[in-house]
Amino acid sequence: VSQLKPGQLAAQQSTGKTSTVDICGVSIGGDSAVTLICGPCSVESREQILSIARLVKDSGARILRGGAFKPRTSPYSFQGLREDGLRFLAEARNETGLPVITEVMDARELPIVERYADCLQIGARNMQNFTLLKEVGKSHLPVLLKRGFSATIDEFILSAEYILSEGNTNVLLCERGIRTFEPSTRYTLDLSAVPILKSKTHLPVIVDPSHGVGVREIVPQMSLAAVAAGADAVMLEVHNSPEDARSDGEQALFPETLAKLVPRLRAVANAIGRDL
Ligand code: PEP
Ligand code: MN
Repeated sequence: VSQLKPGQLAAQQSTGKTSTVDICGVSIGGDSAVTLICGPCSVESREQILSIARLVKDSGARILRGGAFKPRTSPYSFQGLREDGLRFLAEARNETGLPVITEVMDARELPIVERYADCLQIGARNMQNFTLLKEVGKSHLPVLLKRGFSATIDEFILSAEYILSEGNTNVLLCERGIRTFEPSTRYTLDLSAVPILKSKTHLPVIVDPSHGVGVREIVPQMSLAAVAAGADAVMLEVHNSPEDARSDGEQALFPETLAKLVPRLRAVANAIGRDL
């Protein structure tokens, strides 16, 4: 490992092709169809995740997301249902057949999250938690790595390299917005990162417009733009009752909005020679 150059494992190969990462039979990257990943910010109850999982499945999305361990800015905000949340997520997977992505915040919680998840999420706030990156690098599960909101693209790639260098080749890069001087949106969704990451690395690239903009009204437009920019997957927060959500309700799509958005996403994918 010490003889490798920085970013060597993540680097784009001479073929110019994107690798594919398989999440329980759902293939992301390469020539695969654009994948939709949807679900609530947090798992809040058994009923909540089961009913959202059903509507996510009906929308045509292929993967369910939901946080059980939540990285909240304030220690007084809802911190997640922890293992109960993981159990409810697994139940939703068993009922719908949708693989599940959920965040692991701390290396000490990795064994328990691995027991239930199909893909591990590393949150933006942990992008440079090198201990955690090395631990998930030893996991048998794929890892969705979110870009830190103050991280450059090259720092992001080196964080992916930490995971790859431990032997885990199944890494997905997720752009989720960076901090700029612009207060109209929660963050600034850096869509130029998509073609840059795809030219610098062979890893599949995902865009999360929900956290990127933080306001549900403009999430649809930015998801369409993400597909046009070449994203291999789009991750969206959706909630059956956003006004009651225990986290990120302002950015959660209503189920009806998601249902109307999917055919438009497919049309944009088709326009650039892909499916969805
Ligand atoms: C999330 O996906 O709900 C989340 C906490 O994301 P981020 O780490 O990008 O803020
Ligand atoms: Mn969220």
